[in-house]
Amino acid sequence: MKAIEATQEQRAERRAEDATARSEDSASSSGAADFSAELDVAAQALEQALEKSDFDIFFDAFRRTSLPWIGIEHRHEPGTAFRRTAEVVQRLGSISPALALAVENHFYPIAAIATLPTSEDDVLDERRTKLVDSVRRNRWLVANSNSRVHGDRIAQTGTVVKPVGGRYRIAGRAAYMSLATASDLIVFVTFFETGEPAIFFCPSKDNPRLEIGPLLFPDAMQDSDTRRITYHDLELTEDNLLASARDGSDMLGILHFEMIWHQSLLAALSLGTAARAIEEGRLFLRTVKQGDGTPLARLDGMVVDMGRQVLRYRAACGALELAAKAVTDLCAQPLTPHALLDAFEIACAAKYAASGCAEDIVGVVRRIIGARTFAGGHPMERLSREVLFAPLGGDVNAYIERRAGERVLGESSFLSTTLPPSRSRSKVLANIQTLARARKATLKKKDAAS
Ligand SMILES: Cc1cc2nc3c(=O)[nH]c(=O)nc-3n(C[C@H](O)[C@H](O)[C@H](O)COP(=O)(O)OP(=O)(O)OC[C@H]3O[C@@H](n4cnc5c(N)ncnc54)[C@H](O)[C@@H]3O)c2cc1C
Repeated sequence: MKAIEATQEQRAERRAEDATARSEDSASSSGAADFSAELDVAAQALEQALEKSDFDIFFDAFRRTSLPWIGIEHRHEPGTAFRRTAEVVQRLGSISPALALAVENHFYPIAAIATLPTSEDDVLDERRTKLVDSVRRNRWLVANSNSRVHGDRIAQTGTVVKPVGGRYRIAGRAAYMSLATASDLIVFVTFFETGEPAIFFCPSKDNPRLEIGPLLFPDAMQDSDTRRITYHDLELTEDNLLASARDGSDMLGILHFEMIWHQSLLAALSLGTAARAIEEGRLFLRTVKQGDGTPLARLDGMVVDMGRQVLRYRAACGALELAAKAVTDLCAQPLTPHALLDAFEIACAAKYAASGCAEDIVGVVRRIIGARTFAGGHPMERLSREVLFAPLGGDVNAYIERRAGERVLGESSFLSTTLPPSRSRSKVLANIQTLARARKATLKKKDAAS
């Protein structure tokens, strides 16, 4: 097996290759005008798909654009990778939050794997490059599963992986897989019996040992195509493995890095929903008039109401800007526990602000528009039904609140420039540091063995 620690020359060689790839990427990457035109095509296709209740219309058009692989295309310019994926999710989130969530669930693992800083781990670097190159070359859509199930404990997982004669056998169930039927590949997290996590990938279609089951939410969010899945002793090889704690991979680092992308893109999705609600309020208030013929938009109370929504929206946009910067900065250096936790908290704050703002703004605008929201065909009807899920996905808002509460109720004054560390933050940090030490020891042992 190849030595995990690269020599200095190998690292220099890799930096030179990266620089060449970067210049090739900027030469071949689609320009801003192409990107906007493609985004218009995808948005129009989504409107048509909803009108005709036929999602093939959207996915056919989406796959013909370069949008699904934009995070991979711009992997050497993580700022552009983040901004463009966020813009796609935001635009789709202004039309169908559920479908945008399915697309976001394709974007975040793949963009995170593509931009993961792996300069310190050659094996992971090789595996992830191979994976993202195949995804882009084959124009695959990618689903993901974190193996969560609905049990009698929070954050319960339902799958297990066992090494069997040089292969890996995965069994069990997971509650959530969005984009379930349109995807070509699944990237999933599972756990060894001893509890260490691993990330595998395999085809999601026509795989008899991977059963894609019924919709998890039969009466809600159907357009996210979120389904239960069952692994019937699915057998995979080393070629299907992205990273494993047993190989010495920095699993907590990778999983946190993915979640930072996820939370930040979910914020963008919610902002799309909020912006659409404000636009629908604007259209209604300018078109519908009082008895004397003056538009409702002239009523002072309406002006103030709408002003409040716009200010709330702008504040959440500010939070997303900070998250965009945190993601971009994180991609530029080897992951450290402190940098990861800081970026995670910024991303969670953005997701929390944006999802709360979307729920509230949709509610206010629905009350302004009134019952005609539900009279058939009004965009606010779909937004009203689906925005309820904004705080429930990703790292759920209830967890984010608990962590923030623990931080503020510690011993240090809240009037310090940064929030004092919480018990849970110190615990997580200590865990990450212990794991990082264990990982270094594993790498050293492997290095010595090879
Ligand atoms: C529409 C939708 C699509 C999804 N698609 C995918 C997908 O494609 N792939 C994927 O892997 N996952 C997906 N998920 C799952 C998502 O990533 C989260 O795992 C999931 O939303 C967690 O919610 P839960 O209710 O299952 O959490 P649970 O852990 O079961 O928690 C349930 C509730 O308990 C309370 N709670 C739990 N822990 C705490 C705590 N520490 N402090 C305070 N309260 C707490 C909260 O109120 C929480 O809502 C999706 C979720 C949704 C809603």
